[in-house]
Amino acid sequence: MDRIYMNCGSASPVTQSVIRAMRPYLKTAGNPSSITSWGTQAKRSIDKARQKVADLVSAENPREIIFTSGATEANNLAILGTAREKEKKGNHIIVSSIEHISVVSLCKSLEKQGFDITYIPIDSDGLIDPKNIQKAITEKTILISIMYANGEIGTIEPIADIGQIAKEHGVAFHVDGTAACGKIPVNVVGDNIDMLTISSNDLFGPQGTGALYVRQGVRIKPIMFGGGQERKLRSGTENVASIIGMGKAAQLAVKDLDAFVAHVNPIRDRLLDGLTAEISETYVTGSRKKRLPNHASVRFNYIEGESIILNLDLMGIAAASGSACTSKTLEASHVLLSLGLKHEEVHGSLVFTLSQDNKIEQADYVVKVLPGIVDKLRAMSPLTPG
Ligand code: PMP
Repeated sequence: MDRIYMNCGSASPVTQSVIRAMRPYLKTAGNPSSITSWGTQAKRSIDKARQKVADLVSAENPREIIFTSGATEANNLAILGTAREKEKKGNHIIVSSIEHISVVSLCKSLEKQGFDITYIPIDSDGLIDPKNIQKAITEKTILISIMYANGEIGTIEPIADIGQIAKEHGVAFHVDGTAACGKIPVNVVGDNIDMLTISSNDLFGPQGTGALYVRQGVRIKPIMFGGGQERKLRSGTENVASIIGMGKAAQLAVKDLDAFVAHVNPIRDRLLDGLTAEISETYVTGSRKKRLPNHASVRFNYIEGESIILNLDLMGIAAASGSACTSKTLEASHVLLSLGLKHEEVHGSLVFTLSQDNKIEQADYVVKVLPGIVDKLRAMSPLTPG
């Protein structure tokens, strides 16, 4: 069996036609701020990419797309930019208890600066009840920030319902769409989203690039200062080649969405059904129904996810043991703890995130080899009951 890559939530393979689209700009990209013909050509190409990213999320105007260095920066720009813009109006921000670390650590820092953050819990399926958001709103609330889908448990949150509540209360609504965009339809107008984080690599575009959709009329302050690029919201010379790549990836994500879902859904289900059937005390994490089409996540009692990952890696299989961004710390995942699991239940977690390159035979192979790995690790684990 060839090497099997099922770790797209951590880093996704870049599509060949995206690489082809980027290539000319890697060699001679003009500076989009320059008045030379090289500069105007680069600017024109960036604006075409902007249109494609706007189309991906059904934004009304391409000017609403602000390119950034990725999802982390887009999340920071949305939340910190709103906090700075609206601090005179209020100091209350509502987020969920399962946001990405880029949101959680920013919120911790804002708390130290006098902001009041409410963390909305999830149920045992990983879902937020919009009523809890409604109840948390006060006259001091300036922002609601909720992720569209969670990268660790694959759950899709009720964003349209939350958007409706935000609109009714006149509170700005930011959505971290990193894991959702390109995997499910996202419509910023229909969902009443004011700001949306989009990641290029999660669309199978280049790493280190992303965008923040900022609805026209929504005011935020910049968090970076310099040449005033990107409507003064994101200073710094644009990463032209990567933006072109992100545009191409966004265009393909729109065109190929149905085919992508039809391709990865059965592979995801084979993993979820196969692993829970073949290995005792194995449970799906997150909702089975409200789940990203390319996301399978399970947990095994008594063993560590990291040991499973290393054993799979030795067999040429790439998966993740939770969020790639926090896995270095080996701390218990705040997402799995939010599901109501006990500390001893959250360490054996495994996440498979799929691409168009995966095949059903690869899922069969994973289901075949994983029981042996789990048996071996459980035999060595002091936690396994005698
Ligand atoms: N938000 C979510 C939901 C994520 O899963 C990630 C990581 N892929 C990020 C934000 C941060 O992305 P990046 O590290 O590319 O900035």
